[in-house]
Amino acid sequence: MVEEAVLNAAAVAVDPDEVLAYTRALIAAKSENPGGTEDQAAVVASDILSGLDATPEIVRSEAGRPSVVASLGPETGPSLAWNGHLDVVPAGSLDTWRHDPWAGEIDDDGHLVGRGAADMKGPIGAALAAASALRRAGTPLTGSLVFHLAADEELAGVHGTKVLWERGLLTQDAAIVGEPSELQVGLAERGGAWFTATAFGKAAHGSQPHRGVNAITSMARFLLRLSEVLPDIEHPLVGRPTVNAALIAGGSAPNVVPDRCEVDIDRRTVPGETDPDAVRAPFLTLVGSLRAEHPEVEIEVRLREWTDAAEASPDTGIARIAVGAVGAVTGSRPEMVGFTGITDARFYINQANVPTVICGPGSLSVAHTADKRMPVDELVAGARAYARMFAASLT
Ligand SMILES: [Zn+2]
Repeated sequence: MVEEAVLNAAAVAVDPDEVLAYTRALIAAKSENPGGTEDQAAVVASDILSGLDATPEIVRSEAGRPSVVASLGPETGPSLAWNGHLDVVPAGSLDTWRHDPWAGEIDDDGHLVGRGAADMKGPIGAALAAASALRRAGTPLTGSLVFHLAADEELAGVHGTKVLWERGLLTQDAAIVGEPSELQVGLAERGGAWFTATAFGKAAHGSQPHRGVNAITSMARFLLRLSEVLPDIEHPLVGRPTVNAALIAGGSAPNVVPDRCEVDIDRRTVPGETDPDAVRAPFLTLVGSLRAEHPEVEIEVRLREWTDAAEASPDTGIARIAVGAVGAVTGSRPEMVGFTGITDARFYINQANVPTVICGPGSLSVAHTADKRMPVDELVAGARAYARMFAASLT
C-alpha cells in the first residue's frame, strides 16, 4: 500500500493554471478527423512532455498519422499506460458555436469551451498536468508512466492505438484510457457491426411500374422491421444492442423504377456478442420472412466492418486504484459504468490483455456537439485523481 501522504502530496501539487494552460494549448492545435492531421497537437504534446524530461517519440501509421509515445520514470518496475486521442471531430459550421472553438474560453458558468474540451484534450491536459505534479511533489517513481497519445480514435483508431498495438507497444501492466466518463470508472464498451444491405429489383419505365420490381419499396419493407434483428439481451453496464439505418442510396431517374437500393446499417453489439455470423443471421431471417409475404423482395446483407465490444474485469489493481483515487478527490465513490460508443480501450482489453479502466473528466453527452464544454472544477479534479492513480500505481 502506498502511503496516503504520498498520494495526497501528488494530488495537492496539481496546479490548476497548468491544467488549463496545457488544455488550451492542445485545443488551439487543430486536429480534426476527418479533414486534417494530428501533427500540430502531437507537437504541442511532445513539447509539454519534453518539459517534463520525457523523450517523446512520434510513431507514424503507414498513412503518416502521428501518435506520441513517451515514458517517465525508471524502465524497471511496474508500468502504467495512460491513453488519450489527439484527434477531434470536426468543429463544423462556426455559426453553431457561441465561442471560438479553438480558443479555450471559459464561459459564465465556469466551463472551458472548445472543440475537444471534453473529448479529449481536457483529459490529456489533466493527465500531463498530473505527471508534472508528481515531479513537483518529488513523488519517488519506482516504475514507468507511459503516455500513448494516439491519432485517429474518432474514426476507429486504425491509424492510432491499433498501430501502437501492432508495433508491440501495449505491454504495460495496466492502462487508463482517459475518455470523458464524468470521472466514473468505465469497464465495458459496445462494439460495432457495419452492414450493407442491398435490395435488388427490376427496372421498368416509371409510367408502367407493374412491369418492374421497385427496389426502394423492398428496402422500405425491410427497414420498417429492422428492429426485429436485435436479440433480447441486456448487458449490466452498456445496456442493450441497437440498430440504425445510417445511409441510403437508390434509384437512377425520376421516371424509372429503381432496380437497386443500398443502405448502410450500424448495428451496435454488447460484450458477449463475439460471432459476426450470429449477429448477421437475424437479418437473413427478416429477409426470409418478408419474402414469404412479398416474393419479389430480394435483399443481400453483407458485413463490411466488425469491431469487438470489450469488457474489463472490475477485480484488478487499476480498477481499485481508480475507484480510490476518484473517491478521495471528489468525496464520493465512483460508479462502474459502460460506454455506448467505441473507444481505444478495446485494444488494451481485447488485443493486449492489459487490465484497463476508462476514466476521465468531462461528459460524453456533450462531446461531438457544438460548444463542447468541460467544467473547470471537474477538469482539475480529474488531474488530481490522475496524480493519485499514477502515484498509487508507480510508487
Ligand atoms: Zn473520445
